[in-house]
Amino acid sequence: MSVLKNGEEIEKLRQSNLLVSKTLAELAKHIEEGVTTLKLDRIAEEYIRDHGADPGFKGYDGFPATLCTSLNSEVVHGIPSEKALRNGDILSIDCGVILNGYYGDTAFTFPVGEINGKARELLRITYECLMRGISNAVEGNRLGDISYAVQSHAEKSGFSVVRELVGHGLGKKLHEAPEVPNFGKRGSGIKLKSGLVICIEPMINMGKRNIYQKADGWTIRTRDGEPSAHYELAIVVQKEKPDILSTFEYIEQELKTKNKELPWQNNQP
Ligand code: MG
Ligand code: MG
Repeated sequence: MSVLKNGEEIEKLRQSNLLVSKTLAELAKHIEEGVTTLKLDRIAEEYIRDHGADPGFKGYDGFPATLCTSLNSEVVHGIPSEKALRNGDILSIDCGVILNGYYGDTAFTFPVGEINGKARELLRITYECLMRGISNAVEGNRLGDISYAVQSHAEKSGFSVVRELVGHGLGKKLHEAPEVPNFGKRGSGIKLKSGLVICIEPMINMGKRNIYQKADGWTIRTRDGEPSAHYELAIVVQKEKPDILSTFEYIEQELKTKNKELPWQNNQP
């Protein structure tokens, strides 16, 4: 049973998710060739603690770090390491915080330096899948409408959807009901009601959808070794359009000051 949030809870969740959004923007300043994901993890943890919050993932089910850093063919749950980023990599960073008892949870796939055209396309389509999912998160729709919007856009574009990992409700717990799959049928699943807070988080593969877990017990990787992308925002279902609690705006501003264009920003006809 999914619990609807009242106005006070939603404002707390907004603060938590804004802090994650700003943490990711802080990381955007540092993401470039030669930087290690362990360094990014330290920056994130310090930033989160400096803002009066705790990392949401560190210690969660025993996860060892503040960030999940998943590189290229890694889908999600990658562990920060001493391995340096290289030009042409794509780096998915998933970050969570707990602030005033409520979780924030947001993810973004960053290009490192210049990435190739196919990778740009993967990032653009995954971002668009998220936005199409979000636009379906309105009262009266069903959960499957979100799932269908994500899946149909990914597959129409020649990419595939990871099925074993899903979005989720968000609140005092990191993973609350309902599960929000990135695949499904229109008109199926629970009816969406105002006040439902969910994370929508498409994980889209360039190749086949199959994945496996690495021997580290955490990292999920594509079976075929092809790249994967992941974007996530927390939203509140409302009547007309969803209220988006986290934002990529700060990341986009940061990348703009570095003269870096994101794949969905230069796509005007
Ligand atoms: Mg996440
Ligand atoms: Mg999540």
